[in-house]
Amino acid sequence: MSVYDRDNIFAKILRGEVPSHKVHEDEHTLAFLDIMPRTLGHTLVIPKAPARNLLDAPPDALSRTILAVQRIAKAAKIAFAADGITLSQFSEQAGGQVVFHLHFHILPRYDGVPLLPAHTNVESNETLAPKAAKLRAAIADLGT
Ligand code: AMP
Repeated sequence: MSVYDRDNIFAKILRGEVPSHKVHEDEHTLAFLDIMPRTLGHTLVIPKAPARNLLDAPPDALSRTILAVQRIAKAAKIAFAADGITLSQFSEQAGGQVVFHLHFHILPRYDGVPLLPAHTNVESNETLAPKAAKLRAAIADLGT
């Protein structure tokens, strides 16, 4: 099995070497907006523990991450007035993975609206920032 690359872009985000539009952080997980969103509010949730993808994730990190995914998905549906949520996770290149630190995509969906193709365009900080603020507020509104 391939090894974890400590210089992948999400590891750099975790170390604070690369900026991100954070919407949630706790001891075990981090969530931030995708810079090339496939839908309004496209959010990524990652464990802080190093894991390449679903196939090598330690069980504890994986279970804590999926619980964060559920919480953020609920908030994203509210924040972005979505009709539903698509969850996606790609493991290894053949599975569609591009960044090799485990991540789940939370994709707010709207009736009859297809997802944009992946990597279509990079959204600006100016338009991502208010979306992150909106999602952070919706997460806070969920309570504990
Ligand atoms: P994948 O590995 O195919 O599941 O996709 C990686 C995702 O990371 C893509 O949706 C990219 O748009 C996203 N991405 C890449 N670099 C960044 C970054 N610096 N900040 C936020 N999202 C990113």
